[in-house]
Amino acid sequence: MTASSTASSPAASETGDPLLLTPGPLTTSRTVKAAMVHDWGSRDANFIAINRSVLTRLVRIANGSDDWATVPMQGSGTFAVEAMLTTFVPADGEVLVLINGAYGKRAKRILDIAGRRTVVHETAEDTPPDLAAVEALLASNPSITHVFTVHCETTSGILNPIAQIGALAARYGKGYLVDSMSAFGALPIDVQAMHIDAVAASSNKCIEGVPGLGFVICRVEALKRTQGNATTLVLDLHDQWLNMEKTSQYRFTPPTHVIVAFHQALDEFDAEGGVAGRGGRYRNNCRILLDGMRALGFRPLLADALQAPIIVTFHMPEDPLFVFAQFYESLKARGFVIYPGKLTVADSFRIGCIGRIGEKEMRAALAAIGEVLEEMGMVGQIEKTA
Ligand SMILES: *Cc1c(COP(=O)(O)O)cnc(C)c1O
Repeated sequence: MTASSTASSPAASETGDPLLLTPGPLTTSRTVKAAMVHDWGSRDANFIAINRSVLTRLVRIANGSDDWATVPMQGSGTFAVEAMLTTFVPADGEVLVLINGAYGKRAKRILDIAGRRTVVHETAEDTPPDLAAVEALLASNPSITHVFTVHCETTSGILNPIAQIGALAARYGKGYLVDSMSAFGALPIDVQAMHIDAVAASSNKCIEGVPGLGFVICRVEALKRTQGNATTLVLDLHDQWLNMEKTSQYRFTPPTHVIVAFHQALDEFDAEGGVAGRGGRYRNNCRILLDGMRALGFRPLLADALQAPIIVTFHMPEDPLFVFAQFYESLKARGFVIYPGKLTVADSFRIGCIGRIGEKEMRAALAAIGEVLEEMGMVGQIEKTA
C-alpha cells in the first residue's frame, strides 16, 4: 500500500493512518503502539524495571558515564525544556540564549516568565550563531552563568554547532544547557566531549515513541547544586531526581503506557543500529526528499551544509496557481501530512524526514506531490524537471 501514490489508494502507515511528515508527533511502528495494550500500576515492579532501563539507555545514547543521570518529566518536550532551564538556572543566574528560531525564542520566554536574566544572541532563521560574537558576549559579560542553545532548530531544520558552542562555554566556565529535542537519537551528541551540563529531549521525536514524556540528561554534579532553584513544584528536576533515587518512583502519576512504548521504541532503535543506523535512515530520507523536491522545482531554504536530516523547509512557490491549503489537503487525501512553515524570513512549508518512514514512503510522498502539482495546473513547476 505505501508504495502506491494514486489518489484512489492513499499511502499509509502500518495501521492505515496517514504518514506524518511533520516535526512530531510522528508515525510510529505497529509494535510501539501495541506495547500500550496493557495496564500497569505505577508501583508495579515490572513497570519500575522498564522505567529504570529507559532512563539508563538514554544516558548511553548521549555518551554519558555513571556521572550522568536521566531525569524524566511528564508532559511534552517543552515541559522538559522549562524544567531544565528553571532548575539549572538559579534566581541570580543569567543565561546567554542563542536564538535562530521559535524554540530559542520559547526558551527566552520561559526564562523571562521565571524572572531569570538573559543576554540574547539572535541570528536569522537560516543563519547559525556567530561564534566570534558569542565569544565576545561571554568575554564582556562575566555575570553570565549559563549558555543555552538548540541542537536542530526545528523551525527551519538548521543544524547548530553545539560542540563549538560547548567548547566556548567550557573555556569561559559557564554551564551549558541544550535543547536537542528534534535531533536526539538521530544526530550524535556527546555530553562529555561537548561539556554539556543538561540536555533535554522527548519520547516522540527521533526515538520514535509516542508523545507524553520529556527527559533531561543531567551531569549529576551540576544537578546536585540545583536544589531550591526551581520555580514550580512539578518542574523541579532536582526533586524529581532525588525522589526517583530514593523510591524508584515518580512523584506524580507517570504516563505508564507512554513509558512502556518508549522502552519498545528503544529496543527498535538499538536493533536499527542506534544513532548511526537511525541517523543514516533519516539522512537517506532527507537526500531523497531534497533531490525529488528540487526536481519538481521547489527551493529549500537552507544550504545543504546547514541542513539537519530532520525536517526540510521549502520556499512557497510564487506561482499564483499554488494554493498551500489545497496542496496540504490534497496531500493529506493521498495519505501524507506535511507541516506549515513558522518562519519570519520567508513564506514556507516543511516536510519531515523522521519517524517510521523510509525510502519507499519518501518516494511515494514525492510522487503524490507531483500529482498534486499537476492537479493544481502547475505545469511550469513540473516541466523544470523534464
Ligand atoms: C518539538 C520540539 C520541542 C518540544 O515541543 P513540544 O511541542 O513541547 O513537544 C522543543 N524544542 C525543539 C527544538 C523541538 O523540535
